[in-house]
Amino acid sequence: MKNIIITVDGPSGAGKGTLCYALAEKLGFGLLDSGAIYRVTALAALKSAVALEDELALANLARHLRVQFLPENGEVSIVLNGENVSDQIRTQEVADAASKVAIFPQVRTALLQLQQDFVKLDQGLIADGRDMGTVVFPDAQVKLFLDASAEERAKRRFKQLQNKGINGNFAQILAEIQDRDFRDRNRAVAPLKPADDALLLDSTELSIDEVIQQALDYIALKV
Ligand code: C5P
Repeated sequence: MKNIIITVDGPSGAGKGTLCYALAEKLGFGLLDSGAIYRVTALAALKSAVALEDELALANLARHLRVQFLPENGEVSIVLNGENVSDQIRTQEVADAASKVAIFPQVRTALLQLQQDFVKLDQGLIADGRDMGTVVFPDAQVKLFLDASAEERAKRRFKQLQNKGINGNFAQILAEIQDRDFRDRNRAVAPLKPADDALLLDSTELSIDEVIQQALDYIALKV
């Protein structure tokens, strides 16, 4: 299954990350975490005090981003200007900032090639994001759109934090998810929406294993 591109789009917290990781493992494919690219761009802006409203400056920064994705013991380290920022990009502050820089067309254009460069001739690719099937890889052979209710996604996030010993505020987590969804779904360019030819999967009532199985069954049908 060389040269196959499988796109997985959907809102944050629907289980895309886990699904994509499992698919990449099972199929022996590479993995593009496009959200990490938007997060690195946002982190670079925060570090260099570029205003999150300044489209030109943000696009310039995105164009000259010195970022590396280094696979290491089954994980990928994300290195920005020589600094390992894998943990720094996972904060709520950076997630929010990422969804703010992501509204700008010039930023998205500047990051397009970087994402498309994840395609390798001798290996398939799982592309995780918001616009993988609609904009970045419109000709992908398999497109999935993974959704779940905002309440269910907030519950999962709350539990994740609890498992890390952090007592989150459920109402605040839900509000942050709804804010980010609103920005992602309503921006003028590359809004979060299923491609016309995507299979819709709703994980609200499904376990992650059921989601993975449904995705694998569909992939087997398509390729
Ligand atoms: O997926 P993740 O939560 O890491 O993405 C962070 C933010 O980056 C999203 O809320 C979204 O605004 C933006 N993003 C995007 N297009 C993508 C991936 C992420 O606009 N393909």
